[in-house]
Amino acid sequence: MSDIVVIGTGMAGFGAAHRLHAEGIRPVVYDQNPYFGGHTASFRDAASGFLFDLGPHISFTKDARIQELLAGFVNQRFEALQVKLDNYWRGLRLTHPVQLHLNGLPKDLIVEIIADFVKVHDQPEPKIANYEDWLVASYGRRFAELFPMQYTRKYHLTSANNMSTEWLGPRMYRPSLEELLRGALAPWAPEVHYITHFRYPKSGGFQSYLAPFPDLADIRLSHQVVSIDPKSKTVRFADGKSIGFGALVSSIALPALMPMIEGTPDDVLDAARLLACSTCVLVNVGLDRADLSEGQITYIYDADICFTRLSFPHMLSATNAPPGCGSIQAEVYFSGKYRPLVQSTESIIDQVIADLRRCGIVRESDRILHRGANVVRYANVIFDLDRSAALSTVHGYLDEIGIQYCGRYGDWGYMWTDESFISGERAAEAALSSNSRAT
Ligand SMILES: Cc1cc2nc3c(=O)[nH]c(=O)nc-3n(C[C@H](O)[C@H](O)[C@H](O)COP(=O)(O)OP(=O)(O)OC[C@H]3O[C@@H](n4cnc5c(N)ncnc54)[C@H](O)[C@@H]3O)c2cc1C
Repeated sequence: MSDIVVIGTGMAGFGAAHRLHAEGIRPVVYDQNPYFGGHTASFRDAASGFLFDLGPHISFTKDARIQELLAGFVNQRFEALQVKLDNYWRGLRLTHPVQLHLNGLPKDLIVEIIADFVKVHDQPEPKIANYEDWLVASYGRRFAELFPMQYTRKYHLTSANNMSTEWLGPRMYRPSLEELLRGALAPWAPEVHYITHFRYPKSGGFQSYLAPFPDLADIRLSHQVVSIDPKSKTVRFADGKSIGFGALVSSIALPALMPMIEGTPDDVLDAARLLACSTCVLVNVGLDRADLSEGQITYIYDADICFTRLSFPHMLSATNAPPGCGSIQAEVYFSGKYRPLVQSTESIIDQVIADLRRCGIVRESDRILHRGANVVRYANVIFDLDRSAALSTVHGYLDEIGIQYCGRYGDWGYMWTDESFISGERAAEAALSSNSRAT
């Protein structure tokens, strides 16, 4: 039972190791990176003292078991904060979500949006074939085109009519006419967003949540898996070494995993190639001023501003920046399928800083104490119209050959850290039962 091999040290690999440890197993967990934590790793720049997570991460799980586990992993040392989100649109700062706070917009535009909203709501609910249909039916065309459809092109890198609605869940709030009018007339504070409060470790960044990982598992870093033979049950690494396994739990992204598996049929490889994901260039900036923003996260709609989202890590924990300083993490999105990344990272950093100045977030008088960037190859799964069929072909094949997949890029969903952890636990359970059937 101890020859269950786990690939990946992100939240999914952590969840798998945690579950196996509960059965008295200390699994071997491999990762290609020289550090553990996957997307949830955190790095402090020794020279400037700023800490940045590998992507802005906050824990807003409502699952009481996961809340308790995470709190235990950091010995109850976490910040509990109220979320403050806002939006930047054509020089205006608008409260989030915009559909409930139209009052910040020009008066004529508010009238157009409400008139359009009333028009669609007077009609019977239309047939929804894609995300654009859903947006227009929910908000009216004027609002849909100005805000969510524009944001979609920046964040999901394709148009809303090329996307399904499977990923929506509670993400996009559908207001009633009364709510729309209330928010158009005056500022108010409805608590309708799916994130109201969140937690974040007091020190060490988000990665502190994974502190117990090395005690639960034998973690082997700088081990890049390059091929998997499901028949002989062996995994080969980039250095030429191989290991055998009884059961395999993988959190490798499916488009990278499938070509590694020996004997994968062409139709499955073709399906894996159709799976689209964004690549995120995370630009990290440290400044000599902390009063950078009212909110921890800002969404940016304008097409001529390169970043889609900004977060302010110094507002999550005081230990993320030197005293009196502030930090910004900007997300700039690309996609091999829809908007390939061709620029150099340095040129993207320059562009981000120029755009931060144009938005008035960075002032000419500010001193930049840190600048840097990380490229996250697999960031957000894109729910384009190819995804569903392609995914069932790929998952069907993995089920057939008995490889357990998990996490955001194994399940290929829009999953948060808690869901990725639970996905790893489930994959470990499946590996345990397939191993016990085999012995
Ligand atoms: C920009 C951004 C912001 C986010 N913000 C939040 C947030 O605020 N809150 C939240 O809850 N969630 C957030 N998420 C989601 C969260 O990051 C994921 O749900 C979670 O981190 C995914 O964990 P994972 O283990 O599935 O994947 P990963 O963390 O990617 O782990 C996969 C691991 O597999 C390893 N690997 C891959 N290929 C190989 C190979 N060939 N050989 C060996 N190892 C390999 C990788 O190196 C990696 O360590 C965010 C995601 C992004 C992209």
